[in-house]
Amino acid sequence: MLTKPVEAYVSIGSNIGDKERHLVLAVENLGSLENTQLKAVSSLYCSAPVGFLAQDDFLNAAVKVETSLEPFELLHGLQQIEADMGRVRTLRWGPRVIDLDIVLFGAIQIDVPELQIPHPRMKERAFVLVPLAEVEPDMLLAGTPIDDLIKETLNQKIFLFKQKWFDKLSLTGSI
Ligand code: ATP
Ligand code: CA
Ligand code: CA
Repeated sequence: MLTKPVEAYVSIGSNIGDKERHLVLAVENLGSLENTQLKAVSSLYCSAPVGFLAQDDFLNAAVKVETSLEPFELLHGLQQIEADMGRVRTLRWGPRVIDLDIVLFGAIQIDVPELQIPHPRMKERAFVLVPLAEVEPDMLLAGTPIDDLIKETLNQKIFLFKQKWFDKLSLTGSI
């Protein structure tokens, strides 16, 4: 447990089955983690897959939480949600029911294989940056405005899919 809570950002995605339902469940489960509160949830975005291309498009969103969990405790919480939702680990960057990645955790930096924060590939991924910028428009990433990073990703296919998809009444402190 941390003595003082921090703000963390989680990038979520799904590209199998009822993707929107999976994202709703994932955010609800995220808000139910111990010592963790939902602060903001982005719109839903639709993005083309990266890495392994022969798979369905993704729905993505960004979630801001306030948590007193340690970074590894949050990671294990996310992995438990993935497992509970039936994620089966097959090929890396392949299709998945749900993926939850910690992109930022306060100002903390971690670089071991099990947990890298900030997420090492976030800066080149429109499907991470665009939802994140909606939640935190003035965010700087290693000193660079998030909008400048988004401009570098304009070749990546992403569009706004749905604005009102998660019941914002369950958020605390953001409305
Ligand atoms: P990518 O990390 O490029 O988005 P992925 O999400 O498809 O790929 P996974 O198969 O979900 O990758 O996870 C592989 C491993 O990444 C996990 O076992 C986990 O321990 C590790 N990992 C490292 N940093 C993070 C992080 N910031 N958030 C979540 N998992 C992480
Ligand atoms: Ca991922
Ligand atoms: Ca992951």
